[in-house]
Amino acid sequence: MGCGLRLAHPTGRALRDLWEPGRVTGFPRALLRVLVRSGRSVRCPDPRDLAVLSPEEKARARRFREPRRAAAYAAAHAAARRCLGERLGSPAGEIHFGRRPCPGCGKPDHGRPVVDWPRTSWESSLSRSGPHWLFAAADGVRIGVDIERVRPVSLNTLSSAVLSEAERDYLADIEPYLRQAAFIRCWTRKEAVVKASGIGIEAILSQIDVQPWEPRAVVEHRVAGCPTVTWAIRDLPAGPGYSASLALPAEAQPLLDFGRDRGAPSPTDIAVAQEATQWRPPPPVRVRTARPTP
Ligand SMILES: [Zn+2]
Repeated sequence: MGCGLRLAHPTGRALRDLWEPGRVTGFPRALLRVLVRSGRSVRCPDPRDLAVLSPEEKARARRFREPRRAAAYAAAHAAARRCLGERLGSPAGEIHFGRRPCPGCGKPDHGRPVVDWPRTSWESSLSRSGPHWLFAAADGVRIGVDIERVRPVSLNTLSSAVLSEAERDYLADIEPYLRQAAFIRCWTRKEAVVKASGIGIEAILSQIDVQPWEPRAVVEHRVAGCPTVTWAIRDLPAGPGYSASLALPAEAQPLLDFGRDRGAPSPTDIAVAQEATQWRPPPPVRVRTARPTP
């Protein structure tokens, strides 16, 4: 053993062992691998995305009037399929999604989305805002993500419905120009929790205290039929002008995996395509031509 710095886990194992799952034994708790995928769609639906959607998803994509909205929908759902498909050893296009009944009212049409086939203990969550999408999946635990564009909202109208008293105090204390972004960050944190618990839009958001002054929050949120009561929330990197959050059971020790899935469009290609679609040819220069001489 050399005299260099050796990073060690409190149990005495080298940090290196954490990254070789086959060698990890005897840790107090296993790390939970959380797959996180995000992206931005281009102006028109990518045929590679449409190819892996279910017939229902393809029909939904066709119903969008604007091609860029169809592209955003197709890109997000195709990405979710690719990520789960690779994990579950199933072609992306053959995964069946369904829903669990809503824990609030029991109706089957707006509960938590789940994978019905292949049978799996993997849970996942998908969110979209404009051209941006965010997806996360983990095995055996409830998970929720949300991404929102930071946009002007009426704080006077929405604060009392959405924010807790402590959150309203926080917004009142910070510089006015930061309040919209702080509000949206609270919103994404709350949405991530209610998506994970399965109650969704029926939750009373002002009762979920997401501690926006903390880089990571631990919150209590109890929903019938959900085994998790205490949730850990963290903000995720999002595009400029966007806010994103992830919620997981508080006892989980997540290892976030921001990898890429087979068949997914390359982020570099997307950036280049974005630039190309924003490029406009310069207006034609009008040249006064001399009248032909008779
Ligand atoms: Zn309901």
